[in-house]
Amino acid sequence: MAPKRATPFMPRHSHEYAVRVSQRSGKNGSVVAAECLFCVYFGRESKVGSKRKNTGNIKYFSMPFRADNYRQHHVKQHPQKWEQYQEANDEEKKMFFEENRPVKETLHNHYGAKQVKQRYLINAPIVKVIIGELLWDPDDIDGSTHKNMMSSFIDYVDESEVMEEGEEGGDRFCIEINNPVQFSLAIEYLQAGLSFRQAARVMIGTKERTGLAAIGSCSDYTIAIGS
Ligand SMILES: [Zn+2]
Repeated sequence: MAPKRATPFMPRHSHEYAVRVSQRSGKNGSVVAAECLFCVYFGRESKVGSKRKNTGNIKYFSMPFRADNYRQHHVKQHPQKWEQYQEANDEEKKMFFEENRPVKETLHNHYGAKQVKQRYLINAPIVKVIIGELLWDPDDIDGSTHKNMMSSFIDYVDESEVMEEGEEGGDRFCIEINNPVQFSLAIEYLQAGLSFRQAARVMIGTKERTGLAAIGSCSDYTIAIGS
């Protein structure tokens, strides 16, 4: 890795640029991704006169964690909040997000489930080779089920990432876990050695017996794609 690219996450930036660590490396605990708190709590601001609907996507920053990357995003996506935030003193900055519920959480409340989506970044070879090929019957690859399942993995593009020469990007995929309760249960079941189909059955049974609506609906297909 070129030394220029290796700008690690700086903890003081959390406060200065309103970003929060969202993913750490399993290897050494270093920060892999940080999310924009303006996106989480307020959503992106719509431009006056803009016909395009704003995306509800949360901005995730990754290496290099450079201050100008944060600034660039805030100026473009959160001009008003960013202005207010910069004018706030330290104490006010700490409280800035406190009184606001995350946008996603309010949406979920609307549907009666207090769950917040989780996002994971997965290295491309795991998605392409292991999940996309090895787990499949060769005859089913290129079928519609395969296509549906693989569409859960979204090319992770970080538009603020500055590519060095020879770098192409596209080395990671992002997957959203819409139902973390169901997801963690599914992991338990699979670890215990159940098949996708058995896990789905136990999941439905658990929901019926416990009345836990948060578990949501489930099939072997949902177990397999994890969302
Ligand atoms: Zn943002």
